[in-house]
Amino acid sequence: MPNTNDELKRLLTDIQQALIQQKELFGDTINTSPEPETREAEEEPMSVNKKPPTAAEGPDLFGFVAPKPPSPQDQLPPYPNEPWVSAASLGELESMICNCVKCPLGHTRTKFVFGVGNPKAGIVLIGEAPGADEDLQGEPFVGRAGQLLNKILEAIQLKREDVYICNIIKCRPPNNRDPQPIEIDTCEPYLWKQLEIMKPKIIVCLGRVAAQTLLRTTAGLNDMRGKVHDYRGMKLVVTYHPAALLRNPNWKKPTWEDVQWIRKMYDEMK
Ligand code: URA
Repeated sequence: MPNTNDELKRLLTDIQQALIQQKELFGDTINTSPEPETREAEEEPMSVNKKPPTAAEGPDLFGFVAPKPPSPQDQLPPYPNEPWVSAASLGELESMICNCVKCPLGHTRTKFVFGVGNPKAGIVLIGEAPGADEDLQGEPFVGRAGQLLNKILEAIQLKREDVYICNIIKCRPPNNRDPQPIEIDTCEPYLWKQLEIMKPKIIVCLGRVAAQTLLRTTAGLNDMRGKVHDYRGMKLVVTYHPAALLRNPNWKKPTWEDVQWIRKMYDEMK
């Protein structure tokens, strides 16, 4: 072991020079395996620039193991530092946030659409955003899409009072346009808090926007359907949005299959 600063500096300079020579001889790639058999193998050399092995791959030559990459939901931002975060019930939460004007939709809405139904049911259905009827009545899914949702629920022997229904965002986007990222980012923590209070056994995302938002993915609806996803320790499943079924009745059959499957899972968990 070097015991003075000068010796240490000399050692580091020697190592640096050895590395420079090695790079001149071999380039950035060190490949100790025999001739590659396929082009793919050739295109994936063991480059010194390659990312360190993950925990699953075990330690590298130097015993270094990269930390487990965070799952998309581990990367959720924390709650904002606001008083409603300490709400202990849905009623308390609603009264603390119902006058929200943190995003521009707070200035154009008629009513704040918090959510409705039985918070103890263990099943929460989540849509995208209130439409015109919901904005007027202050209740989610009361327009045409809502009537169809009621029928879908009836098909699995549930009434809307038996489940809890809410949306990703609480205020209507003008002209029913898609919610904008800033509106979702501002409003979504309210939904996290609702879910934290209710602790449902199953979350059913109605449509692509709700599912992509909660799962932090850009996957298409059909990639997300038919799977049980994990959302902060809760089961999350995905099906078509009722408004999509009004536009395309061919999707009613797969929706029927989805909800039968969801009902079975719900019964098994009760
Ligand atoms: N569409 C939604 O996503 N939510 C509603 O509340 C109504 C229509």
